[in-house]
Amino acid sequence: MPRLPPEPALQWNDSAPRTLAFDDVYFSRDGGLAESETVFLGGCGLPDAWRAREQFTICELGFGCGLNVIAAWRAWKDTHKPHAVLHICSIEAFPLAREDAARALAPFAEVGEIAAKLLARWPVRAYAPQRLWFEEDRLALTLFTGEAETILAGMQARVDAWFLDGFAPARNPTMWSAEVFRQIARLSASDARLATYSVAGGVRRDLAANGFTFEKKPGFAAKRERLEARNAARAVAPAPAPKRVAIIGAGIAGAACAQALSRRGVETVVLEAARELGAGASGNPAGLIMPRLDRGGALSEVFLTSYLAAVAAYEDLGVIDSCGVEERGEQRRAGALTDLLADPPLPPDWFSALADRAALHARAGLVRPREAITAMLSNARVLFEAPVAAIERAGEGWLLRAPDGCVMLKAAAVVLACGAALTQFAPARFLPIELSRGQIEWGPGAAPAHALTRSSYVLSFDGGVLFGATFDKVNSAEAPTADASSRARNLRALAQLAPEIAASIDPNKLNSRAALRAATPDRAPIAGALPDAEVWLRANADVAHGAVPIVSASIPGVYVVGGLGARGLTLAPLLGEEIAAEICGEPQVLSAKARAAIAPARFLQRALKRR
Ligand code: SAM
Repeated sequence: MPRLPPEPALQWNDSAPRTLAFDDVYFSRDGGLAESETVFLGGCGLPDAWRAREQFTICELGFGCGLNVIAAWRAWKDTHKPHAVLHICSIEAFPLAREDAARALAPFAEVGEIAAKLLARWPVRAYAPQRLWFEEDRLALTLFTGEAETILAGMQARVDAWFLDGFAPARNPTMWSAEVFRQIARLSASDARLATYSVAGGVRRDLAANGFTFEKKPGFAAKRERLEARNAARAVAPAPAPKRVAIIGAGIAGAACAQALSRRGVETVVLEAARELGAGASGNPAGLIMPRLDRGGALSEVFLTSYLAAVAAYEDLGVIDSCGVEERGEQRRAGALTDLLADPPLPPDWFSALADRAALHARAGLVRPREAITAMLSNARVLFEAPVAAIERAGEGWLLRAPDGCVMLKAAAVVLACGAALTQFAPARFLPIELSRGQIEWGPGAAPAHALTRSSYVLSFDGGVLFGATFDKVNSAEAPTADASSRARNLRALAQLAPEIAASIDPNKLNSRAALRAATPDRAPIAGALPDAEVWLRANADVAHGAVPIVSASIPGVYVVGGLGARGLTLAPLLGEEIAAEICGEPQVLSAKARAAIAPARFLQRALKRR
């Protein structure tokens, strides 16, 4: 399968697209918007079903031009509770180009403003889920690219309303397979509703087989009938989102969690041991946002998705300088880069070939961490000189204790986001955090047009250059200081990467900074609910004999985000969003497989297998 999702072949009848592959239309020629409202909103009892809700989730099969999403968005704007959040998850195997969607949506002037907002943030054609937040409307749209069956199998969500809008079942059977309906049942809230224009016998049979009751209703325009269905299970109220969350650490990881929680209206308190922002690795004057592109595996989704999320987040905050990054093939990675360029995971305006086996990441760039962190923390309460020594369960929540034992704060949930200090906390002690010292240099020099990377990097900074970084394993979590031998190594690496830039530099005019990175042995970050290691190991002892682990043994209300290594700026926005969604019981962006690859419990699982 190619790494880039296929675009659909379209035939146009004025502004109405028709797919050649399935020989069907995207929406009714008798009024696409009215069809969305009658069949999908009406069919799921919307807007009434969300009026009293703090949080509501729609999942659509077949995003197409986004017309159903726009119809739901318009209805939501006028009818939601003040602080409520609407999640719309939509799945698409053949993503339309922005220009095609714009052409298809042009006739619907009554929703022109919403369509323009959607088109301005149109998802990048890539196999990477993308969550677009429209905060002013309290709406999060998550677009999943891929086969419906595969995407649903990896989804973690509790869906209140389903829009089944594949092409006609007889022509597009994979969209209506028995497995699709099994997954729908797995993901449905106990009182979920479901709507579709199709009353095909197979659809009704699969709904009934999966615990849905249904009714035929008069169809839209020329269609005689449509279907409304309900999950027949008894309603169970979801746990409410926590009122206050404490985040330990005001680096980029903590700041991204704080931003994601505060946009949901959760009171967020960030506790930082240092006197001001930027004490750790996030204190460097600038850092690169660029992707790690893998050729496959669960982590490729994590890194690709986080890159797209990071560019979107920093563009939104206005803190990225999109200078582009030229990746020059490292000896050991040259084959991989050539292979990726031959079958790229991103479209050419994001990733393209340059001469000499190099690649250009045109949307990658430079971020000043302090600026990004300050913007992300704008709606959180930040306490400086507030070192937390321990966390302690108290009733339904957690107490945070200072080194003298005094209670600093009580919160419903705690996120440990304190980089090198993570394993100071007893429940996180099992995490194999590896520390390394990294030094960078900056000062006058001939600035490159794009940032350049191989194993080291150089970028244009403050009219000069910034380059680095060293990598030395250390055992102590004490803040390091810059030294001359690291500077000499950085200069040697620069001379290899870009001799012309190295020649323009006067080493005596350079500034240096050293900081600690916290990474993991598998070079993947850690994000998720923290398991109770002892309970987990006991409950999942059978893993050692090949059984699948089923007991999460999470400590209620304790989450961790860490081990971001040298990729903190790129990973943090997505991981912050994942943690916030998990805390609030909302749909996750990443697939279950990708989440397992970054879950804290993976280290326990490996330990068991080794026994
Ligand atoms: N809801 C869309 C709108 O508002 O514009 C129209 C959806 S159109 C009727 C059906 C969509 O399902 C198409 O965009 C098509 O590419 C997508 N599709 C077809 N087969 C699929 C599959 N197996 N998995 C995911 N999407 C699929």
